[in-house]
Amino acid sequence: MQFAKRLDRLPPYLFVDINRRIAEMRGKGIDIVTFAIGDPDMPTPAHIIDRLCEEARVPANHRYPETDGLPELREAIAEWYRERFGVELDPNTEVLPLIGSKEGIGHIAFCFVEPGRVVLVPDPGYPVYSMATMIAGGEPYYMPLLEDADFLPKLESIPESVAAKATLMWLNYPNNPTGAGAPLEFFDRAIAFARAHSIAICHDAPYTEVYFDGKKPPSLLQAGGAKDLSIEFHSLSKTYHMTGWRIGMAVGNREMIRALFTVKSNLDSGIFQAIQLAAVRALRGSQAVVAEHNEVLQRRRDKLLEVLDQVGLHARVPDGTFYVWARVPEGYSGVDLARELLEQVHIAVTPGIGYGASGTDYIRFSITLPDERLEEGIQRLAGWRGGTR
Ligand SMILES: *Cc1c(COP(=O)(O)O)cnc(C)c1O
Repeated sequence: MQFAKRLDRLPPYLFVDINRRIAEMRGKGIDIVTFAIGDPDMPTPAHIIDRLCEEARVPANHRYPETDGLPELREAIAEWYRERFGVELDPNTEVLPLIGSKEGIGHIAFCFVEPGRVVLVPDPGYPVYSMATMIAGGEPYYMPLLEDADFLPKLESIPESVAAKATLMWLNYPNNPTGAGAPLEFFDRAIAFARAHSIAICHDAPYTEVYFDGKKPPSLLQAGGAKDLSIEFHSLSKTYHMTGWRIGMAVGNREMIRALFTVKSNLDSGIFQAIQLAAVRALRGSQAVVAEHNEVLQRRRDKLLEVLDQVGLHARVPDGTFYVWARVPEGYSGVDLARELLEQVHIAVTPGIGYGASGTDYIRFSITLPDERLEEGIQRLAGWRGGTR
């Protein structure tokens, strides 16, 4: 067999060791509390499930769907954007449903990337931005997200020679893994930078509805001129606890939406219509679930931050997302600390390096575990002896 060279470029999976050790310990009957999974523990709200069940019985929904989604879904997405962000979208040209936003995040690379081209990628960041870039034959350029800059990329430090070769820039706020939000003013600056260098922006925004302290995050499309050169990826996964359903959307610049549709329509055949109609119910139904979810998450966030402080692990207070990004103490790497916490107090966290080199000295806690497990994990963390040094 002759596999394609592009496969060799993809880095090996980083945490083989730690995951093997977790499996080994669990095999011996050791109970591990895991803060390592970024997937909501709370179920999808019942009204959404009910609509799926009704629509699953309708024979028309058993056939191939259209790749560009049901008009009703595109309209519901446009209404939701108007209601939530005050952003106007044409449901026929500026909205494209996706089989989960990850699908579109991967496919958009084929619209902008070719050998010799560069994609600006946040570091730390969701790995798909750089992986899809490499699969499409381009080069990621990593923009460090540092705590002293509120985890926003310093656009002015991107070399002119890099900006000249860049065709796409990825942004993601509220940010996975740092939990940081971005002010609208930052989006204005990003758009000015992108315009000056003929770069398109993709804003990955699945966490705009997962926010704390009542501070609603903005959409990139609220920034002036955003639609001239950008699209936003959004998703029902995190907002309505629908990660397994696989439904999301891209919205914004119509040429970019058309290009993504061209690639997609040649590779996939859309989303099961019953799921699309359940998504319509989610978007048009009561949004009370958002506040309910955020209340639970904020309480968990605060409990975790309190114990992190006690054991001497510093973390910037997250503005949103499911994550707490904690700096490791002097003398540790994130991998060292993740190992030590696993061995000593039987809790699992993700080493920050999994999200990029700038995450080397961090670990990521996810707060998507049931309250009683979180409580147990916090007790164990409080007893970590490294913390008392
Ligand atoms: C969860 C997540 C996604 C993917 O969401 P889906 O719509 O479920 O594919 C994309 N980006 C980030 C940063 C995420 O955390």
